[in-house]
Amino acid sequence: MNTDDPTRSFTYAALPARILFGAGRVADLPAESTRLGLQRLLVLATPGQRPLAEMAAALLGRQAAGMFAAARMHVPIATADQARAEARRVGADGCVAIGGGSAIGLGKAIALDMGLPIIAIPTTYAGSEMTPVWGITYRDGKHTGRADAVLPRSVIYDPDLTRDLPATLSGLSGVNAIAHAVEALYAPDTSPVICLYAGQAIRDLTAALPTIAASPHDAAARASALRGAWLCGSCLGATTMSLHHKLCHVLGGTFDLPHAQTHAVLLPYVAAFNLPYSAHAAAVLSDAMDTADPPAALYELARNVGAPQSLRELGLTEADLPTVVADVLSRPYSNPRAVTAESLTLLLTEALEGRVIAPGGAFPTASPRSARGRPGRTGQGC
Ligand code: NAD
Repeated sequence: MNTDDPTRSFTYAALPARILFGAGRVADLPAESTRLGLQRLLVLATPGQRPLAEMAAALLGRQAAGMFAAARMHVPIATADQARAEARRVGADGCVAIGGGSAIGLGKAIALDMGLPIIAIPTTYAGSEMTPVWGITYRDGKHTGRADAVLPRSVIYDPDLTRDLPATLSGLSGVNAIAHAVEALYAPDTSPVICLYAGQAIRDLTAALPTIAASPHDAAARASALRGAWLCGSCLGATTMSLHHKLCHVLGGTFDLPHAQTHAVLLPYVAAFNLPYSAHAAAVLSDAMDTADPPAALYELARNVGAPQSLRELGLTEADLPTVVADVLSRPYSNPRAVTAESLTLLLTEALEGRVIAPGGAFPTASPRSARGRPGRTGQGC
């Protein structure tokens, strides 16, 4: 195996999902439902994707028990309760979640409560379909957890369904997906299998996203991006995410910054911060992106696909930074580089202003020796 440290021990648990991939594969939905023994499926979608939900229900015919096209970002508990009530009312024995992470997240909220199996048909690159992670937003914020019951039983990846995903949304969603793969490379529970997934995923998405930005209906680029998204989702489901996801969670949860945009703005800065402390992750990224300077390449990629320029553009201000820093530091999480209030403030200030990460440009680095907390380990990775 191509690992930088073959003596490093690891645990790898393959998650049980069945993947159907290919243009036109949504037509396999009825057969897949039958294979799972499901007779009364509730079809879930966001309001904007109602036509997709209607198409899925039409394909299912008598196997469709109803439709709930009111999924919302971050699964508000009121929406989850309405959808659960609808599932009970129609006597559903399973759910089809068609659309992005919002529809799939709603399916997970139903599965968590009622144990109904999910068939996921993702049409963005967010990756939720490959994880046993659920999230529900209550009055006091978003609660998340892991439960085997919420992992979709089957996932149908049909690139044709992504062709109308708007170019900028595609780019943002794709960079969001890349963030899963990047953080999987230096995750404490990474493994050689996941590093292979991550490298291929980053290669697929890096190649496909600029093409999609220029030509959103390019079938080969859509297939490549969706394949990358599948692998990125697998990375997310198999490992523990680090600083980047922690920051996005706080910025989304406390400051209501938009999900994919926040990922796209932050990723190059977090990569610049962490990669000097994870030689293997840097090497995999360099190879996959065909660059000597992954942070600069990620910065370029984000801008090429139309990501916002800065966290300020998303609504954050200097006055918010101390709260973000305190929140991020308040709960321990793994990261290859020790994170201090000083270094995190520097990172966030760069991202707040959207400062250029130029090729070869050094990110302001606090000396590792001055860092409090757990020191980073150069070379951490699989
Ligand atoms: P989303 O599902 O809200 O989709 C974003 C927008 O794209 C929506 O307006 C949707 O209607 C539209 N859209 C979706 N597919 C389309 C298509 N084919 N054509 C045109 N428009 C389309 O958001 P998302 O970015 O996919 O997912 C983000 C959510 O998923 C967040 O709540 C995030 O926390 C969650 N998430 C969870 C996990 C997990 O493992 N639990 C992983 C990733 C993301």
